[in-house]
Amino acid sequence: MLNFDFYNPTQILFGQGKIADLDKVVPKEAKVLVLYGGGSIKKNGVFDEVMQALGLRSVTEFSGIEPNPSYETLMKAVAVVREHGIDFLLAVGGGSVIDGTKFVAAAALFEGEDPWAILEKRGNNITRALPFGSVLTLPATGSEMNAGAVVTRLSLHAKMAFSSRHCFPQFSVLDPSKTFSLPVRQVGNGAVDAFVHVMEQYLTYPVNAPVQDRFAEGILQTLIEEGPKALANPDDYEVRANLMWCATMALNGVISTGVPQDWATHMIGHELTALHGLDHAQTLAIVLPSMLRVRKDAKRAKLLQFADRVWGLREGDEDARIEQAISRMQAYFEQMGVKTRLRDYGLSAADIPAIISALESHRMIALGEKREVTPEISRQVLELSV
Ligand code: NAP
Ligand code: FE
Repeated sequence: MLNFDFYNPTQILFGQGKIADLDKVVPKEAKVLVLYGGGSIKKNGVFDEVMQALGLRSVTEFSGIEPNPSYETLMKAVAVVREHGIDFLLAVGGGSVIDGTKFVAAAALFEGEDPWAILEKRGNNITRALPFGSVLTLPATGSEMNAGAVVTRLSLHAKMAFSSRHCFPQFSVLDPSKTFSLPVRQVGNGAVDAFVHVMEQYLTYPVNAPVQDRFAEGILQTLIEEGPKALANPDDYEVRANLMWCATMALNGVISTGVPQDWATHMIGHELTALHGLDHAQTLAIVLPSMLRVRKDAKRAKLLQFADRVWGLREGDEDARIEQAISRMQAYFEQMGVKTRLRDYGLSAADIPAIISALESHRMIALGEKREVTPEISRQVLELSV
């Protein structure tokens, strides 16, 4: 096992009715900014429950944080924070709203000239941030219990990630019944994003970390079992509860302890979203199957373990088992309604050079657990995904 430093201070309030507990965890004297997206929380009752729980606190609203939150929008929220003397942020929504709130929390107290520098330095220049919590409405990203965020600068077509230990939510409320209203597309996206998060931390090379491996395999198996049930029976609370906890556990730091991490699929995926507007999970479903095929030799031992323990594939030669495991994973993404080829989204081989140029300009030139994924390998991966 590799050395590690595990830190996670986020309190989780989980279960039906838990939004009422905001009254216990949001400071009574706080000047609160409630940040949210395009209005789904007004339709499904989440907004009203949040407001009721906040009671007589001073509350200002900031709406309109878009999927793949933009720097341009978030800087407007930073201006609101300054104008109203806000001292506590509450994100209510999916990963985009929570990620955006992390940026606002850090940008509002940032001492440099332009907070875009936070993205350029991947968060290493954050020295403090406003305190914040979240109410999660979409299980997918794990942002509710981690310190990372992804922000897009529309004017530059740049989608960049940052993380800082100052950017953990103080608490997150997870009420699975609030996910009943999710559109089918977002249920599928959420399951695929969580699945790929696990794979980025599990499917590397063995380092003798059997607890982490079995946690990872348990999350993958649960996503495979429960995901299709959420599509078939959208109002099943137990299914939603298990999916929600899977997504949080997939990226809260537990399964990454002491193991190598890949993240090449995410980095290539970010360029696809920045250039072509695909949903985050759509990009991952396109890239990961080809990434595993192209890097089969570097990942052989863990691919065989994945084939055996997650898919029960123990017969046939090694290469056949590996290919079957990757195909089964790809079929699972399709079953969840997320297409896995560039052409499914109207893209072709002609679009690949611009994606590679974008990777190069963002210094994404040595990716993966062994830093072996050069732009040339990224190109091979994308060519295999056409
Ligand atoms: P999202 O972009 O937050 O939300 C997608 C859509 O779902 C929005 O239109 C939203 O509508 C809607 N929605 C959310 N909850 C709903 C509900 N309960 N009922 C009905 N509609 C609902 O999706 P996401 O997948 O959670 O977040 C994606 C972003 O997170 C990407 O930018 C991705 O790069 C990033 N990400 C972050 C991490 C991390 O560790 N921080 C990891 C992976 C990905 P409204 O706008 O109306 O609310
Ligand atoms: Fe992700």
